[in-house]
Amino acid sequence: MIKCPKCTNKLITINYQNIEIDRCSQCEGIWFDAMEAEQLKKVKGSEKIDSGNYIEPEHFNHPQHQTKCPRCRGRMLQMLDIDQYSIWYKQCRRCRGIWLDAGEFRKFKQNFQAYNLTNLTKYIFRDRSSNNGDKLNV
Ligand SMILES: [Zn+2]
Ligand SMILES: [Zn+2]
Repeated sequence: MIKCPKCTNKLITINYQNIEIDRCSQCEGIWFDAMEAEQLKKVKGSEKIDSGNYIEPEHFNHPQHQTKCPRCRGRMLQMLDIDQYSIWYKQCRRCRGIWLDAGEFRKFKQNFQAYNLTNLTKYIFRDRSSNNGDKLNV
C-alpha cells in the first residue's frame, strides 16, 4: 500500500485500459508511475479517472513543503506544464513518477493535444532551495 504524498491517506489502485494508476481515497489526487500519465493522456475517456474535485491543503504547494515520493521516497520537484492550462504538479526526480491534484489530469490531458508532444513540452524547473545545477532533460 502506498500513501498519498499530499494528505497521507490511502491510495487506491485503479485500472483503466490496462494502465494502473493510484488515486487517493481522500483528496482524490492521482499518482502516475513514470510515463503513465502520458500513456493515459492518449486513451479516449481517460479523464474519467479524475474526479475533478480539487481540494487544496494550504501547505501543500508551498515551496518549503518537502514532498516525498510515495513509491521510492525520493524527492519530489515542482514542475510546470504550460499550454492551454498552467498546471503545477510534482515529479519524483528518482523514479519519474508524477503527482497530479484532483482536476489536474483533465487539464493535463488537454494540454498539447494538437501538437507533437516532444517538441512543445516545456518544463520549468522551480526549486529555489537547491542550486546545485540540477536540470531536467526533456
Ligand atoms: Zn490525498
Ligand atoms: Zn519516486
